[in-house]
Amino acid sequence: MKVVIVGGGWAGLAAAVQLIKNNITVSLLEASRQLGGRARLIQFGKNRLDNGQHIMLGAYKSLLLLMKDINIKENQVLKRLPLDLKLLDKNGACFHLRTGNLPAPAHLLTGLLSARGFSLKDRTTVLRAIITMRLSGFKVEPDVPLQEYLNRLGQTKKAVEYLWQPLCISILNTPIETASTEIFLKVIREAFFGKKSDSEMLLPIDNLGACFPDPAMDYIEQNNGNIQLGSRVDSLKLSGDSIKGVISNNEMLEADNVILASAPEHTLKLISSIKVLNPVTTMLEKIESLPITTLYLRYPEPVSLNRDFVGFADCHTQWVFDRDRLTGDTGILAAVISGPGKHMKMTTEELSGVITKEIADHYPMFPAPVETKLVREKRATIASSVGINKHRIKNESPVKGLWFAGDYTDTGYPSTLEGAVRSGQNCARLIINE
Ligand SMILES: Cc1cc2nc3c(=O)[nH]c(=O)nc-3n(C[C@H](O)[C@H](O)[C@H](O)COP(=O)(O)OP(=O)(O)OC[C@H]3O[C@@H](n4cnc5c(N)ncnc54)[C@H](O)[C@@H]3O)c2cc1C
Repeated sequence: MKVVIVGGGWAGLAAAVQLIKNNITVSLLEASRQLGGRARLIQFGKNRLDNGQHIMLGAYKSLLLLMKDINIKENQVLKRLPLDLKLLDKNGACFHLRTGNLPAPAHLLTGLLSARGFSLKDRTTVLRAIITMRLSGFKVEPDVPLQEYLNRLGQTKKAVEYLWQPLCISILNTPIETASTEIFLKVIREAFFGKKSDSEMLLPIDNLGACFPDPAMDYIEQNNGNIQLGSRVDSLKLSGDSIKGVISNNEMLEADNVILASAPEHTLKLISSIKVLNPVTTMLEKIESLPITTLYLRYPEPVSLNRDFVGFADCHTQWVFDRDRLTGDTGILAAVISGPGKHMKMTTEELSGVITKEIADHYPMFPAPVETKLVREKRATIASSVGINKHRIKNESPVKGLWFAGDYTDTGYPSTLEGAVRSGQNCARLIINE
């Protein structure tokens, strides 16, 4: 059996590793000159940085197991921290929640009880909401916007602004007014109601390539797999309703199975003229993408947040990461804005100026940065909007031998690295079972 994988993002690579482990020959074609897909490298002066700060969770079980499977040592590429959210507002007041030392979910409850910046009412409404979520089996039928769900649970303004909203935008990259409660509850369940370590945060201490794509490439090539960079697939070759291969650079590459592990907009281009795939095309057209914006700032001397990252309330900037503490990039901070918003209408100069000022307002002792770089990823993730799960396509397709993988498929999970890995692995499993 020969499998061709289109796309070398985390989904395509996860599928390739899984297939190879089952002695199936794999060729992976990647359009760009680097692996990693949406998680790619950029140059900032002399530093090579990721196109955006990525955070993983202890609950990303498939991803962590996959890394272990190909001998990536977690502590050599990731820093594991307890859930520790600190938000500063313009008046210098702050909200601080850090999970306690007890087993899950008591660690969350003790964290809430001792959270700074919450009144008794804020705490009790959040506790009540968590109990209701658990009693409902983390299910909501039909799906509703998260904001509406939280209103029903009587959440205070502060609980929404300081806890639910930051969690929602960070996990789903989707505004709370439109976010899917169904998807949100799935992550809350997996992160907070399994083991305590599931709620821990994992931050890369090297670039993302080192966390999986680079070792995956070595693993694939050492096991007779073939990876071709700079090879865009232009079309699919079918015979009747069966796949026969792909066309890339005017050459046909034959295959019994083809996995399209490209992002939804690229998958759409490859399949839109194939009649039998019309129902899939219709579903794909309903998928929307949302941005993530990152500003890297270089300071003339080392600056420190005294913690790995901090949140800003009431600002365009949502989170600021201390790259020195995380990756050893001295004097560099990364400011992140997830999701859409007014910042999308600002020019690069305007937005860079606004973020720089917001950081200076919170940390007046910092010198002015000497260099900034704004990275706008307009299609960073799909929108995890209410009802979206109904429009997420399955790995299987009506064309025999054609499969779909990617963070946008029907995983029930938000559009994340873990979602991409789960999808790629599931696709591989289906092929193996066939
Ligand atoms: C700035 C930013 C921050 C993020 N933060 C987080 C985070 O904190 N935590 C988290 O879990 N996730 C985060 N994400 C989301 C995460 O990066 C994505 O969910 C994940 O990378 C998607 O992987 P994928 O393999 O499904 O798709 P992609 O990464 O889109 O991979 C698809 C690949 O297919 C290739 N391709 C497309 N068309 C063709 C073709 N015709 N021929 C050959 N190749 C083709 C593309 O070049 C690409 O390499 C973030 C994303 C961004 C951009």
